[in-house]
Amino acid sequence: MKRTIKDVKSFKGKRVLLRCDLNVPLDNWGDILNDNRIEQSLPTIAELVKKNARVIVCSHLGRPKGYDKYLSLFPVAVYLMKSFPNRVKFCSKVVGPEVQDAVSKMKDGEILVLENLRFNKGEEENSPAFVKELASLADFYVDDAFGVAHRKHASNYGVALKLPNAIGLLVEKELSVFEKAFKKPAHPFVAIFGGAKVDDKLNLINNVMDIADTIIIGGGMAYTFLQAKGKNIGKSLVSLDMVDDAQAIIAKAKEKGINLLLPIDHVVLAGEKQKVVITEYLDNDMVGLDIGPKTIKLFSKAIKEAKQIIWNGPVGRYEDVRFKTGTEKLAKAVAKSNAYSIVGGGDSVTAVEEAGVAYKIDHLSTGGGASLKLMEGKPLPAIEVIDTI
Ligand code: ADP
Ligand code: MG
Repeated sequence: MKRTIKDVKSFKGKRVLLRCDLNVPLDNWGDILNDNRIEQSLPTIAELVKKNARVIVCSHLGRPKGYDKYLSLFPVAVYLMKSFPNRVKFCSKVVGPEVQDAVSKMKDGEILVLENLRFNKGEEENSPAFVKELASLADFYVDDAFGVAHRKHASNYGVALKLPNAIGLLVEKELSVFEKAFKKPAHPFVAIFGGAKVDDKLNLINNVMDIADTIIIGGGMAYTFLQAKGKNIGKSLVSLDMVDDAQAIIAKAKEKGINLLLPIDHVVLAGEKQKVVITEYLDNDMVGLDIGPKTIKLFSKAIKEAKQIIWNGPVGRYEDVRFKTGTEKLAKAVAKSNAYSIVGGGDSVTAVEEAGVAYKIDHLSTGGGASLKLMEGKPLPAIEVIDTI
């Protein structure tokens, strides 16, 4: 078992480097457009404060190449100042003398927010010099950044190897949700997959095949499967190198008695014209961009009967209002069902939020890539290096 911060009785007087995922969308005025990741990070910060730690909070934000004033963590620090009045200070550097100085002045129960880790290129390179500087700031390390747990960066993988450590409450929750869903699934277990890239998700489908009762495949990836079944998919998205793998999955599902559902009708663009056609009528000039009404009904029926649902990937090009209906209706069906529901994946979570049903989903994962890795049954490198007890 990984050590969690609950296993540490007191952090009194300890300098704790806390890696969070505070990667929130900002507009150019520094307004936070969605505070979900900050909110999800608050319990761990609060717990460390309660245990009298000197909490040094660090995170990345966006993908800066060097310093970028639009990607400063300052707006996030301001948010935290409101959540923890009179406890929070911000340092406009990541490492170096100013940070050392600010840390040396901290009192127990105070919070110091560092500037965006990725302003320093040593972060993503996991450079030994940057790891050493970060580690020198603290006596203890806490990893609560589930969103980057599949990466080997300096502030998670590198630092964990240098300091005594534990996972935070958010990482603990994410790990336990996925572990329970895969080790003790409730049946019927319905897994829903969509999105554009079938290549990235085949391992995931394969892993789920050992436990799922129904597998629903929609979105761009469905067309590789329809092609594998010999259907004409017109100009829809397809991964030609994956057609054989898709065929193998179809065969394996049959052998195992898994209910594998594919779209039976589609919202397509034929030239400039948008229309609904059944799979058999897909034509050479058509691009399939959403599931049609018959498919929505078919998928929703399986969702209604589920006791556990895992969903990754929108079932249409939901960014375009013309093609968001399928994803929106499925989100509502998942929200309405009595199943324990987990949604993972950046776009999938956005789609559920846009459908206005996020609050009805049991677990909205904060990590796209990391949740995919867990669903594939693969370890997360940054968690592997955390101490066990
Ligand atoms: P997630 O971020 O939830 O893991 P993905 O990134 O895999 O999901 O997939 C989301 C993308 O898939 C969206 O940009 C969406 O427009 C695209 N997509 C879904 N269905 C289709 C389709 N039929 N054709 C083209 N793109 C699609
Ligand atoms: Mg995505």
